[in-house]
Amino acid sequence: MIIDLRSDTVTQPTAAMRDAMLKAPLGDDVFGDDPTVNALQERIAQITGKEFALFMPSGTQSNLCALMAHCERGDEYIVGQNAHTYRYEGGGAAVLGSIQPQPLAQNTSGEMALADIAAAIKPVDCHFARTRLLALENTWNGHPMSQAYLAQATGLARQHGLATHFDGARLFNAAVAQAQGGTVADSVRRIVDHFDSVSVCFSKGLGAPVGSALCGSKELIAKALRWRKVLGGGLRQSGILAAAALHALDHHVDRLADDHALAQRLAQGLLGIEGLSVRSVQTNIVFVDVADDRGPALLSDLKAHGVLATGLIGLRFVTHMGVDAEGIDHALVCIRRHMGSQSTEASRAQGAFGVY
Ligand SMILES: *Cc1c(COP(=O)(O)O)cnc(C)c1O
Repeated sequence: MIIDLRSDTVTQPTAAMRDAMLKAPLGDDVFGDDPTVNALQERIAQITGKEFALFMPSGTQSNLCALMAHCERGDEYIVGQNAHTYRYEGGGAAVLGSIQPQPLAQNTSGEMALADIAAAIKPVDCHFARTRLLALENTWNGHPMSQAYLAQATGLARQHGLATHFDGARLFNAAVAQAQGGTVADSVRRIVDHFDSVSVCFSKGLGAPVGSALCGSKELIAKALRWRKVLGGGLRQSGILAAAALHALDHHVDRLADDHALAQRLAQGLLGIEGLSVRSVQTNIVFVDVADDRGPALLSDLKAHGVLATGLIGLRFVTHMGVDAEGIDHALVCIRRHMGSQSTEASRAQGAFGVY
């Protein structure tokens, strides 16, 4: 058995989710005829409190459609230097949108300094790209951003006439972590109310095989609909996919707390292992810094024993509905043995590791 902690994108649809997909009423969504897609769009628009929503094949396309709907050719958007839309989406905004990114340094919480944002907003002058949009990402490395920062940064943007986009691939992880006794629904709204548009992934912790949604005003979504078609994202009987996302919204939101608890279990178990330093864990992502360049050796040893993770010096372990406490405990055993042993080859030869 493989304990796959590389990402929460690796989940397989459950039997109940597959059943929902099988039974979903379908139509041609390019004609606006798919009842399941329409139901999902209404549902996620209602959850995020936005006028309209659009089902998207991926988070990357959802973010790109948002950027292209907010900005025109020659406009720019302000974004974190390490943010997904800037760093991990192939430069799509520039390549396909003719939108200039203005990346800014971020602190460990993913925040760009307010003074840096203010300084990056260009005057209206033909020398400059027109600064149109501020984009934030949350959760950031598994950490939900503070309400105070969201309010300040989006307030500053609005004060300068900028629109605001939220890459909320893991919005529901942030909302569950910040619910604090209240409802997750209220927590979602507290986060997204700061923004003009929101992109959310169904294919991460929520466990759907495919899909994201972009939510925003009627006008914005009309523009995004056009760009989605241009980008090749106009799907036909996509209700079969939307059914999985609807099922996920019904059944897989509150259970994100289980993923967060598993991440805590892993983090707690790693405390005190010499050579490892565990960063604080707030949702389903555990970052572990490994001393003395031992990260790659640990990673490949774990792989040899059925435990998958990513990273180099800082390793990343992501919990999700495809792993359980037993799997986490197995990972811990493997990590402890590796870090404690001088020679993993010797311990392997002794059969110190079970077959998983
Ligand atoms: C995964 C992710 C995306 C993009 O999602 P894909 O569906 O893989 O294209 C965007 N932003 C963030 C922060 C993500 O984690």
